[in-house]
Amino acid sequence: MSIELPIYMDNASTTRTDPRVVEAMLPFFTETYGNSASRNHSFGWAGEGAVTLAREQAASLIGSGPKEIIWTSGATESNNLAIKGAARMMAKGPAGSSSRGHIITAIHEHKAVLDPCKRLEREGFDVTYLEPGSDGIITCAMVESAMREDTILVTIMWANNELGTINEVPEMGALCHDRGVLMHTDATQWVGKMPTDVERDNIDLMSFSGHKFYGPNGVGALFIRRRRPRVRIEAMIEGGGHERGMRSGTLNVPGIVGFGKACELCAEEMSGEAERLLGFRNRLETELSSQLDVVTINGHPTRRLPHLTNISFGFVEGESLMMGVSDIACSSGSACTSASLEPSYVLKALGIGDDFAHSSLRLSMGRWTTSEEVDYAIASIVKSVNHLRAMSPLYDLHNEGIDINAIDWQSH
Ligand code: PMP
Repeated sequence: MSIELPIYMDNASTTRTDPRVVEAMLPFFTETYGNSASRNHSFGWAGEGAVTLAREQAASLIGSGPKEIIWTSGATESNNLAIKGAARMMAKGPAGSSSRGHIITAIHEHKAVLDPCKRLEREGFDVTYLEPGSDGIITCAMVESAMREDTILVTIMWANNELGTINEVPEMGALCHDRGVLMHTDATQWVGKMPTDVERDNIDLMSFSGHKFYGPNGVGALFIRRRRPRVRIEAMIEGGGHERGMRSGTLNVPGIVGFGKACELCAEEMSGEAERLLGFRNRLETELSSQLDVVTINGHPTRRLPHLTNISFGFVEGESLMMGVSDIACSSGSACTSASLEPSYVLKALGIGDDFAHSSLRLSMGRWTTSEEVDYAIASIVKSVNHLRAMSPLYDLHNEGIDINAIDWQSH
Protein backbone atom coordinates (compact mmCIF):
# COMPACT_ATOMS: atom_id res chain seq x y z
CA MET A 1 0.00 0.00 0.00
CA SER A 2 1.40 3.41 -0.90
CA ILE A 3 1.43 6.14 1.68
CA GLU A 4 0.72 9.81 1.38
CA LEU A 5 3.34 12.22 2.68
CA PRO A 6 3.66 13.93 5.06
CA ILE A 7 2.31 11.43 7.57
CA TYR A 8 0.44 12.70 10.58
CA MET A 9 1.82 11.67 13.98
CA ASP A 10 0.69 14.66 16.02
CA ASN A 11 -2.68 13.45 17.29
CA ALA A 12 -1.93 14.71 20.81
CA SER A 13 -2.01 18.24 19.35
CA THR A 14 -5.23 17.75 17.47
CA THR A 15 -7.00 15.01 15.57
CA ARG A 16 -8.64 14.88 12.18
CA THR A 17 -12.39 15.31 12.62
CA ASP A 18 -14.02 11.95 11.92
CA PRO A 19 -16.10 12.19 8.69
CA ARG A 20 -19.01 10.58 10.58
CA VAL A 21 -18.80 13.50 13.03
CA VAL A 22 -18.83 16.05 10.19
CA GLU A 23 -21.83 14.30 8.66
CA ALA A 24 -23.73 14.52 11.95
CA MET A 25 -22.90 18.25 12.24
CA LEU A 26 -23.81 19.41 8.74
CA PRO A 27 -27.63 19.69 9.05
CA PHE A 28 -27.17 21.98 12.05
CA PHE A 29 -25.61 24.72 9.92
CA THR A 30 -28.23 25.09 7.20
CA GLU A 31 -31.33 23.09 8.14
CA THR A 32 -31.76 22.79 11.89
CA TYR A 33 -30.12 26.11 12.68
CA GLY A 34 -32.33 27.34 15.52
CA ASN A 35 -30.89 28.85 18.69
CA SER A 36 -31.14 26.10 21.30
CA ALA A 37 -32.31 28.71 23.81
CA SER A 38 -35.31 29.74 21.65
CA ARG A 39 -38.31 28.31 23.44
CA ASN A 40 -41.04 29.55 21.10
CA HIS A 41 -40.59 27.56 17.90
CA SER A 42 -39.64 24.23 16.45
CA PHE A 43 -36.23 25.43 15.19
CA GLY A 44 -35.23 26.17 18.79
CA TRP A 45 -36.71 22.92 20.11
CA ALA A 46 -34.77 20.90 17.51
CA GLY A 47 -31.54 22.65 18.51
CA GLU A 48 -32.23 22.01 22.17
CA GLY A 49 -33.04 18.36 21.45
CA ALA A 50 -29.72 17.93 19.64
CA VAL A 51 -27.80 19.52 22.53
CA THR A 52 -29.60 17.26 25.00
CA LEU A 53 -28.60 14.18 22.99
CA ALA A 54 -24.96 15.38 22.87
CA ARG A 55 -25.01 15.93 26.63
CA GLU A 56 -26.19 12.33 27.07
CA GLN A 57 -23.49 11.02 24.72
CA ALA A 58 -20.77 12.95 26.59
CA ALA A 59 -22.12 11.89 29.99
CA SER A 60 -22.26 8.28 28.95
CA LEU A 61 -18.59 8.33 27.86
CA ILE A 62 -17.43 9.55 31.29
CA GLY A 63 -20.00 7.98 33.63
CA SER A 64 -21.66 11.23 34.72
CA GLY A 65 -25.23 12.51 34.59
CA PRO A 66 -26.13 14.68 31.55
CA LYS A 67 -26.83 17.68 33.76
CA GLU A 68 -23.26 17.52 35.02
CA ILE A 69 -21.87 18.54 31.60
CA ILE A 70 -21.22 22.24 30.90
CA TRP A 71 -20.29 23.21 27.32
CA THR A 72 -17.22 25.40 26.81
CA SER A 73 -14.91 26.42 23.95
CA GLY A 74 -12.27 23.80 24.81
CA ALA A 75 -10.12 22.45 27.60
CA THR A 76 -8.36 25.78 28.15
CA GLU A 77 -11.66 27.37 29.07
CA SER A 78 -12.79 24.31 31.06
CA ASN A 79 -9.60 24.41 33.13
CA ASN A 80 -9.94 28.14 33.77
CA LEU A 81 -13.59 27.77 34.75
CA ALA A 82 -12.94 24.79 37.03
CA ILE A 83 -9.86 26.11 38.80
CA LYS A 84 -10.67 29.80 39.16
CA GLY A 85 -14.40 29.16 39.51
CA ALA A 86 -14.03 26.60 42.31
CA ALA A 87 -11.26 28.46 44.17
CA ARG A 88 -13.09 31.79 44.12
CA MET A 89 -16.31 30.14 45.28
CA MET A 90 -14.51 28.55 48.24
CA ALA A 91 -12.22 31.51 48.99
CA LYS A 92 -11.79 32.31 52.64
CA GLY A 93 -11.42 36.10 52.42
CA PRO A 94 -11.96 38.90 49.91
CA ALA A 95 -9.76 39.12 46.77
CA GLY A 96 -6.28 40.34 47.61
CA SER A 97 -6.28 39.15 51.24
CA SER A 98 -3.69 36.52 52.10
CA SER A 99 -4.26 32.81 52.80
CA ARG A 100 -7.55 32.52 50.90
CA GLY A 101 -7.02 28.77 50.51
CA HIS A 102 -4.44 26.21 49.37
CA ILE A 103 -4.32 24.51 45.97
CA ILE A 104 -2.15 21.57 44.88
CA THR A 105 -0.97 21.11 41.30
CA ALA A 106 2.26 20.00 39.54
CA ILE A 107 5.06 21.84 37.75
CA HIS A 108 4.59 19.92 34.49
CA GLU A 109 0.86 20.52 34.06
CA HIS A 110 -0.35 22.19 30.85
CA LYS A 111 -0.13 26.00 30.79
CA ALA A 112 -3.94 26.05 30.78
CA VAL A 113 -3.71 24.84 34.39
CA LEU A 114 -0.52 26.60 35.46
CA ASP A 115 -1.58 30.07 34.33
CA PRO A 116 -4.94 30.04 36.19
CA CYS A 117 -3.03 28.83 39.28
CA LYS A 118 -0.60 31.73 38.95
CA ARG A 119 -3.54 34.12 38.64
CA LEU A 120 -5.00 32.70 41.86
CA GLU A 121 -1.65 33.19 43.64
CA ARG A 122 -1.89 36.88 42.77
CA GLU A 123 -5.39 36.88 44.30
CA GLY A 124 -4.15 35.54 47.63
CA PHE A 125 -4.30 31.75 47.23
CA ASP A 126 -1.32 29.53 48.08
CA VAL A 127 -0.32 27.03 45.41
CA THR A 128 1.95 24.01 45.87
CA TYR A 129 3.60 22.83 42.62
CA LEU A 130 4.52 19.16 43.04
CA GLU A 131 7.62 17.88 41.29
CA PRO A 132 7.53 14.46 39.61
CA GLY A 133 10.28 11.89 39.86
CA SER A 134 12.26 10.93 36.75
CA ASP A 135 9.30 8.81 35.55
CA GLY A 136 7.06 11.88 35.28
CA ILE A 137 4.30 10.46 37.50
CA ILE A 138 2.51 12.39 40.24
CA THR A 139 1.47 9.85 42.86
CA CYS A 140 -1.33 10.00 45.40
CA ALA A 141 1.30 9.90 48.18
CA MET A 142 2.87 13.12 46.84
CA VAL A 143 -0.51 14.84 46.96
CA GLU A 144 -1.23 13.47 50.43
CA SER A 145 2.01 14.80 51.86
CA ALA A 146 1.32 18.26 50.40
CA MET A 147 -2.20 18.45 51.88
CA ARG A 148 -2.86 21.10 54.53
CA GLU A 149 -5.74 22.06 56.81
CA ASP A 150 -6.66 24.83 54.35
CA THR A 151 -6.33 22.81 51.11
CA ILE A 152 -9.43 23.45 48.99
CA LEU A 153 -8.55 22.05 45.56
CA VAL A 154 -6.27 19.49 43.92
CA THR A 155 -5.76 19.88 40.16
CA ILE A 156 -3.66 17.14 38.56
CA MET A 157 -3.94 16.08 34.91
CA TRP A 158 -4.98 12.51 34.12
CA ALA A 159 -2.38 11.98 31.38
CA ASN A 160 0.46 14.29 30.42
CA ASN A 161 0.28 15.79 26.93
CA GLU A 162 4.01 15.57 26.17
CA LEU A 163 4.84 12.24 27.80
CA GLY A 164 1.56 10.31 27.92
CA THR A 165 2.35 9.41 31.53
CA ILE A 166 -0.68 8.52 33.65
CA ASN A 167 -0.99 10.05 37.12
CA GLU A 168 -2.69 8.35 40.09
CA VAL A 169 -5.89 10.32 39.62
CA PRO A 170 -8.52 7.84 40.93
CA GLU A 171 -6.44 7.38 44.11
CA MET A 172 -6.23 11.17 44.49
CA GLY A 173 -10.01 11.41 43.99
CA ALA A 174 -10.60 9.00 46.88
CA LEU A 175 -8.14 10.90 49.07
CA CYS A 176 -9.79 14.23 48.27
CA HIS A 177 -13.24 12.90 49.06
CA ASP A 178 -12.01 11.61 52.44
CA ARG A 179 -10.57 15.04 53.24
CA GLY A 180 -13.42 17.17 51.89
CA VAL A 181 -11.15 18.66 49.19
CA LEU A 182 -12.28 19.15 45.57
CA MET A 183 -10.56 17.07 42.87
CA HIS A 184 -10.18 18.57 39.39
CA THR A 185 -8.42 16.77 36.57
CA ASP A 186 -7.42 18.03 33.14
CA ALA A 187 -8.39 14.89 31.21
CA THR A 188 -7.84 16.39 27.76
CA GLN A 189 -5.44 13.64 26.66
CA TRP A 190 -7.32 10.88 28.48
CA VAL A 191 -11.01 11.07 27.63
CA GLY A 192 -12.01 9.23 24.48
CA LYS A 193 -8.84 7.12 24.60
CA MET A 194 -9.16 5.38 27.96
CA PRO A 195 -12.21 4.22 29.96
CA THR A 196 -13.39 6.98 32.30
CA ASP A 197 -15.83 6.83 35.20
CA VAL A 198 -16.03 10.02 37.24
CA GLU A 199 -18.42 8.40 39.72
CA ARG A 200 -16.19 5.44 40.53
CA ASP A 201 -13.05 7.57 40.53
CA ASN A 202 -14.39 10.35 42.78
CA ILE A 203 -13.71 13.16 40.34
CA ASP A 204 -15.46 16.47 41.13
CA LEU A 205 -14.43 18.54 38.11
CA MET A 206 -13.02 17.27 34.81
CA SER A 207 -11.98 19.15 31.65
CA PHE A 208 -12.01 17.60 28.18
CA SER A 209 -11.92 18.79 24.59
CA GLY A 210 -13.52 17.53 21.36
CA HIS A 211 -10.61 18.11 19.00
CA LYS A 212 -8.42 15.59 20.85
CA PHE A 213 -10.80 12.70 20.12
CA TYR A 214 -11.89 13.22 16.50
CA GLY A 215 -14.49 15.90 17.23
CA PRO A 216 -14.40 19.50 16.00
CA ASN A 217 -12.08 22.23 17.29
CA GLY A 218 -13.36 24.86 19.67
CA VAL A 219 -15.79 22.71 21.65
CA GLY A 220 -15.01 21.46 25.12
CA ALA A 221 -16.80 20.34 28.22
CA LEU A 222 -16.45 20.62 31.95
CA PHE A 223 -17.91 17.93 34.17
CA ILE A 224 -19.17 19.49 37.39
CA ARG A 225 -20.38 17.04 40.07
CA ARG A 226 -23.94 17.70 41.26
CA ARG A 227 -24.22 15.18 44.12
CA ARG A 228 -21.98 14.02 46.94
CA PRO A 229 -20.72 16.75 46.97
CA ARG A 230 -22.67 19.34 44.98
CA VAL A 231 -19.83 21.39 43.50
CA ARG A 232 -20.44 25.11 43.09
CA ILE A 233 -18.29 27.35 40.94
CA GLU A 234 -18.22 31.04 40.17
CA ALA A 235 -18.97 31.84 36.51
CA MET A 236 -16.33 33.56 34.39
CA ILE A 237 -18.57 34.50 31.47
CA GLU A 238 -21.79 36.19 32.51
CA GLY A 239 -24.67 37.00 30.24
CA GLY A 240 -27.89 35.23 29.32
CA GLY A 241 -27.62 32.59 32.05
CA HIS A 242 -27.02 29.66 29.68
CA GLU A 243 -25.64 26.42 31.13
CA ARG A 244 -27.43 27.13 34.41
CA GLY A 245 -25.61 30.43 34.77
CA MET A 246 -22.16 28.81 34.81
CA ARG A 247 -21.25 29.68 31.22
CA SER A 248 -23.38 32.19 29.38
CA GLY A 249 -23.46 32.53 25.59
CA THR A 250 -25.46 31.04 22.72
CA LEU A 251 -24.47 27.41 22.33
CA ASN A 252 -22.45 26.25 19.33
CA VAL A 253 -25.07 23.67 18.33
CA PRO A 254 -23.24 22.12 15.32
CA GLY A 255 -20.02 21.86 17.34
CA ILE A 256 -21.79 20.35 20.32
CA VAL A 257 -23.56 17.82 18.06
CA GLY A 258 -20.12 16.87 16.68
CA PHE A 259 -18.68 16.59 20.19
CA GLY A 260 -21.52 14.24 21.16
CA LYS A 261 -21.09 12.08 18.06
CA ALA A 262 -17.32 11.91 18.69
CA CYS A 263 -18.05 10.71 22.24
CA GLU A 264 -20.41 8.03 20.97
CA LEU A 265 -17.84 6.77 18.45
CA CYS A 266 -15.06 6.69 21.05
CA ALA A 267 -17.23 4.73 23.46
CA GLU A 268 -17.73 2.10 20.75
CA GLU A 269 -14.24 2.01 19.26
CA MET A 270 -11.87 3.04 22.05
CA SER A 271 -10.79 -0.36 23.31
CA GLY A 272 -9.94 -1.84 19.89
CA GLU A 273 -8.23 1.38 18.90
CA ALA A 274 -6.08 1.45 22.04
CA GLU A 275 -4.94 -2.11 21.45
CA ARG A 276 -4.03 -1.44 17.81
CA LEU A 277 -2.13 1.76 18.64
CA LEU A 278 -0.29 0.12 21.53
CA GLY A 279 1.03 -2.41 19.03
CA PHE A 280 2.27 0.46 16.83
CA ARG A 281 3.80 2.30 19.79
CA ASN A 282 5.64 -0.81 20.95
CA ARG A 283 6.96 -1.39 17.43
CA LEU A 284 8.16 2.20 17.16
CA GLU A 285 9.94 2.03 20.49
CA THR A 286 11.44 -1.42 19.99
CA GLU A 287 12.68 -0.72 16.48
CA LEU A 288 14.11 2.72 17.23
CA SER A 289 15.90 1.47 20.35
CA SER A 290 17.29 -1.58 18.58
CA GLN A 291 18.33 0.10 15.31
CA LEU A 292 19.91 3.12 17.08
CA ASP A 293 22.01 3.49 20.21
CA VAL A 294 21.79 6.26 22.83
CA VAL A 295 17.99 6.41 22.64
CA THR A 296 15.82 7.12 25.70
CA ILE A 297 12.09 6.72 26.02
CA ASN A 298 10.93 9.54 28.27
CA GLY A 299 8.48 8.97 31.11
CA HIS A 300 7.35 5.86 32.96
CA PRO A 301 8.00 2.66 30.97
CA THR A 302 4.46 1.32 31.33
CA ARG A 303 2.12 3.88 32.96
CA ARG A 304 1.65 5.67 29.65
CA LEU A 305 -1.06 6.27 27.04
CA PRO A 306 -1.01 3.56 24.36
CA HIS A 307 -0.82 5.87 21.33
CA LEU A 308 1.96 8.27 22.33
CA THR A 309 5.70 8.04 22.70
CA ASN A 310 8.32 10.64 23.57
CA ILE A 311 11.85 9.64 22.57
CA SER A 312 15.20 11.42 22.86
CA PHE A 313 18.15 10.73 20.59
CA GLY A 314 21.62 11.46 21.93
CA PHE A 315 24.20 13.25 19.73
CA VAL A 316 21.75 14.93 17.40
CA GLU A 317 20.69 18.54 17.39
CA GLY A 318 16.93 19.05 17.87
CA GLU A 319 16.25 21.46 15.06
CA SER A 320 18.27 19.46 12.54
CA LEU A 321 16.39 16.33 13.56
CA MET A 322 13.01 18.05 13.03
CA MET A 323 14.17 19.19 9.60
CA GLY A 324 15.45 15.71 8.82
CA VAL A 325 12.07 14.14 9.57
CA SER A 326 10.00 16.87 7.92
CA ASP A 327 7.86 14.25 6.19
CA ILE A 328 6.54 13.21 9.61
CA ALA A 329 4.24 15.75 11.27
CA CYS A 330 5.16 15.43 14.95
CA SER A 331 6.18 17.56 17.94
CA SER A 332 9.57 18.19 19.44
CA GLY A 333 10.78 18.89 22.97
CA SER A 334 12.84 21.63 21.48
CA ALA A 335 11.33 25.08 21.36
CA CYS A 336 14.03 26.27 18.95
CA THR A 337 11.48 26.87 16.25
CA SER A 338 9.65 29.34 18.49
CA ALA A 339 11.16 32.52 19.87
CA SER A 340 12.72 30.83 22.90
CA LEU A 341 15.71 28.51 23.09
CA GLU A 342 14.37 26.87 26.23
CA PRO A 343 13.63 23.16 25.83
CA SER A 344 10.35 21.69 27.06
CA TYR A 345 9.64 22.51 30.73
CA VAL A 346 7.85 19.16 30.98
CA LEU A 347 10.96 17.18 30.02
CA LYS A 348 13.11 19.36 32.26
CA ALA A 349 10.76 18.61 35.18
CA LEU A 350 11.84 14.95 34.90
CA GLY A 351 15.49 15.95 35.27
CA ILE A 352 16.22 15.39 31.56
CA GLY A 353 19.22 17.48 30.47
CA ASP A 354 18.86 20.26 27.91
CA ASP A 355 20.58 18.25 25.16
CA PHE A 356 18.25 15.24 25.49
CA ALA A 357 15.21 17.51 25.89
CA HIS A 358 16.14 19.38 22.70
CA SER A 359 16.57 16.17 20.72
CA SER A 360 13.25 14.58 21.63
CA LEU A 361 10.33 13.74 19.39
CA ARG A 362 6.72 13.22 20.48
CA LEU A 363 4.99 10.85 18.11
CA SER A 364 1.25 10.47 18.72
CA MET A 365 -0.80 8.10 16.62
CA GLY A 366 -4.51 8.01 16.00
CA ARG A 367 -7.56 6.50 14.32
CA TRP A 368 -6.08 6.76 10.80
CA THR A 369 -2.48 5.77 11.53
CA THR A 370 -1.51 2.75 9.43
CA SER A 371 1.08 0.04 9.89
CA GLU A 372 2.86 1.29 6.75
CA GLU A 373 3.12 4.77 8.23
CA VAL A 374 4.71 3.36 11.38
CA ASP A 375 7.30 1.53 9.27
CA TYR A 376 7.93 4.68 7.27
CA ALA A 377 8.42 6.75 10.45
CA ILE A 378 10.90 4.23 11.85
CA ALA A 379 12.95 4.19 8.64
CA SER A 380 12.88 7.98 8.30
CA ILE A 381 13.96 8.64 11.90
CA VAL A 382 16.73 6.02 11.79
CA LYS A 383 18.05 7.48 8.52
CA SER A 384 17.97 11.04 9.81
CA VAL A 385 19.61 10.26 13.17
CA ASN A 386 22.36 8.22 11.46
CA HIS A 387 22.95 11.02 8.97
CA LEU A 388 23.28 13.66 11.71
CA ARG A 389 25.51 11.48 13.85
CA ALA A 390 27.82 10.86 10.89
CA MET A 391 28.63 14.57 11.10
CA SER A 392 28.97 14.67 14.89
CA PRO A 393 32.49 14.74 16.38
CA LEU A 394 30.93 14.18 19.80
CA TYR A 395 29.37 10.93 18.60
CA ASP A 396 32.80 9.84 17.33
CA LEU A 397 34.30 10.52 20.77
CA HIS A 398 31.44 8.58 22.38
CA ASN A 399 32.14 5.64 20.06
CA GLU A 400 35.80 5.75 21.06
CA GLY A 401 34.63 5.17 24.62
CA ILE A 402 35.32 8.72 25.81
CA ASP A 403 32.93 10.07 28.43
CA ILE A 404 31.81 13.38 26.94
CA ASN A 405 30.69 14.75 30.29
CA ALA A 406 34.14 14.14 31.80
CA ILE A 407 36.01 16.19 29.15
CA ASP A 408 37.58 19.42 30.38
CA TRP A 409 36.90 21.53 27.26
CA GLN A 410 38.86 24.53 28.62
CA SER A 411 42.21 22.73 28.43
CA HIS A 412 41.70 21.44 24.86
N1 PMP B 1 -4.74 20.48 28.56
C1 PMP B 1 -4.01 19.58 27.93
C2 PMP B 1 -3.38 18.46 28.70
C3 PMP B 1 -3.83 19.67 26.54
O1 PMP B 1 -3.09 18.76 25.90
C4 PMP B 1 -4.44 20.73 25.83
C5 PMP B 1 -4.26 20.89 24.34
N2 PMP B 1 -2.93 20.96 23.93
C6 PMP B 1 -5.20 21.66 26.56
C7 PMP B 1 -5.34 21.50 27.92
C8 PMP B 1 -5.90 22.80 25.87
O2 PMP B 1 -7.01 22.31 25.17
P1 PMP B 1 -7.82 23.18 24.11
O3 PMP B 1 -7.00 23.21 22.89
O4 PMP B 1 -9.09 22.42 23.93
O5 PMP B 1 -8.07 24.53 24.71
